[in-house]
Amino acid sequence: MRTVRCPVCRKEAAWQGNVYRPFCSERCRTLDRGAWASETYHIAGEPADPTPAENDAPEPHKV
Ligand SMILES: [Zn+2]
Repeated sequence: MRTVRCPVCRKEAAWQGNVYRPFCSERCRTLDRGAWASETYHIAGEPADPTPAENDAPEPHKV
């Protein structure tokens, strides 16, 4: 399979069918555009800050 090395994260990504090429993902394409601070930067599953998970949150009172 033909691959391309992402200029942002240096990961190899598929060339064929990759709409973000030469980047590996939308994330890297966005990064390359310097959109870090942009509000449009929203990727699910990618923690934006080291805030503790909800697991530690106390359970709401049940009635
Ligand atoms: Zn990348």
